[in-house]
Order: sequence, then structure tokens, then C-alpha cells
Amino acid sequence: MTENAETPVCSSRGCRHTAAWMLKWRNPRLHGPERVKRWAACDEHLEALRSFLTSRGFPCETVKLDD
Ligand SMILES: [Zn+2]
Repeated sequence: MTENAETPVCSSRGCRHTAAWMLKWRNPRLHGPERVKRWAACDEHLEALRSFLTSRGFPCETVKLDD
């Protein structure tokens, strides 16, 4: 997957790790189906970021980033 030429950094606050995963999500109360937000995540923070989204009922897709 080459959607971004730059190496993404984990979206978790204060984390500087290179992301291995991309979370695609949206808030269905605010966004239509075309408005997909993206969070990058390292291995360490993937579960925390994903549970943050799923606990709020946001549709969320996890994509592995190739390096
Ligand atoms: Zn991280």
C-alpha cells in the first residue's frame, strides 16, 4: 500500500514510533460514508487506538502498512 510517500508516525499522543498499521474510521454522527479519517498506529498502540474507536461505536478498519 503506497498511499503516502512519507513514513507515517504513530498517532498515539507522544509516540514517535513508525506506524505499522493504519486505522480508517469515521464518526457516523458527524461524517458521511465518504469522510474516512486515518490514524497511523505502531504495534504497541494499535490495540489502544482501536479500542478507543470501537468503544465509541465508530466503524473502524485496520490496514497493515507495507514498508
Ligand atoms: Zn505508538
